Amino acid sequence: MTAFIEATSPHVMNTYGRVPIALSHGQGCHVWDVNEKLYLDALAGIAVNTLGHNHPKLVSALQEQLTQLIHTSNYYHVPHQETLAAKLVALTGMSNVFFCNSGLEANEAALKMARKYGHDKGIERAEVVVYEKAFHGRSIATLSATGNPKIQAGFAPLVEGFIRVPKDDIEALKKATEGNPNITAVFLETIQGEGGLHPMRLEYLQQVRQLCDERGWLLMIDEVQTGVGRTGKWFAHQWAGIVPDVMTLAKGLGSGVPVGALVAGPKAAHVLQPGNHGSTFGGNPLAMRACVETLSIIEEEGLLDNAAKVGAYLKNSLQQALGHVEGVTDVRGMGLMIGVELAKPCGALVGVAADSGLLISVTADSVIRLVPPLILTEAEADSIVALLTPLVKAFLAA
Ligand SMILES: *Cc1c(COP(=O)(O)O)cnc(C)c1O
Repeated sequence: MTAFIEATSPHVMNTYGRVPIALSHGQGCHVWDVNEKLYLDALAGIAVNTLGHNHPKLVSALQEQLTQLIHTSNYYHVPHQETLAAKLVALTGMSNVFFCNSGLEANEAALKMARKYGHDKGIERAEVVVYEKAFHGRSIATLSATGNPKIQAGFAPLVEGFIRVPKDDIEALKKATEGNPNITAVFLETIQGEGGLHPMRLEYLQQVRQLCDERGWLLMIDEVQTGVGRTGKWFAHQWAGIVPDVMTLAKGLGSGVPVGALVAGPKAAHVLQPGNHGSTFGGNPLAMRACVETLSIIEEEGLLDNAAKVGAYLKNSLQQALGHVEGVTDVRGMGLMIGVELAKPCGALVGVAADSGLLISVTADSVIRLVPPLILTEAEADSIVALLTPLVKAFLAA
């Protein structure tokens, strides 16, 4: 028997509230820790491991890529960038893609674009509409766009040029922007992920699209968490039948390999010109190969349908198991992006669930977030419900 290995990080900077386990390897929707304890992974690295762990096709493509090229720089053409960009263009009906390495980087590019778009029209101090409870990242610009005072605390002065509005209220948006000639963009999440799994109404998204068209604003949608099949369509805005001018992607795009992308439609595609923006690592061959492979495996394995079908099944089962329990205030979500909201803060459940062999997260203090790999089966969904239900009941009764 192996000795119990304690999970500690004395030399890593203490910026996370970590669960005291260390993971060692995984297979499909399961992972094992360094002491060989098994977990069902309903978090997927925060909506990142689209294909689960150790997907044979992804692994062999990456192994092959490692022997060819890992990195070259954007001094040269990178053929895998063109392959992935063409695929993203085909899936969105948009036109051009900029590659970077994370969600906040994609959003940073979007915010620069909103300013340059204004500048090109003679607007010197561009303003961008953002939302209460929004999350766009932790750089200075993206935390300024984020609608969470806890994330902003301690980092003043924040970046100027944001106007904050409540979601789902087109009149509030019109009122907040009335007569303001400096607005250049509206920036939103179709489902606010970190903010507590709050979807925007599809009708509202359509209204915002129309308003942006009327006013000449860019509609910029942060699909860093909702994109790449998570909700059962390629991109969550597609449920509303709209096409944004700018869409940002990251988390699930490379199935675990770090990557970010900004996809732009014709109104935005030519705003950034040589010298305006760049990234050393962005679009490197290894990350691009991971993304190309991830998208083609999603297609081959029908994972959009699986996310829709197993997601509906999981949400339904959770509603049946927990919907009527005193202290459970809501079970909501789309596809495999599901939130169970409790009437009290429940961050402690993350560690309790890990003890029981289930990986989850809690967001916005009181919302249990389930964002498992898109390969989840109904049997695995049953296991999530079987593991989670008694924990939630015991937690609420305590
Ligand atoms: C996670 C997330 C980000 C930030 O992504 P990072 O890769 O952590 O920088 C931005 N927007 C949304 C909606 C996210 O969920």
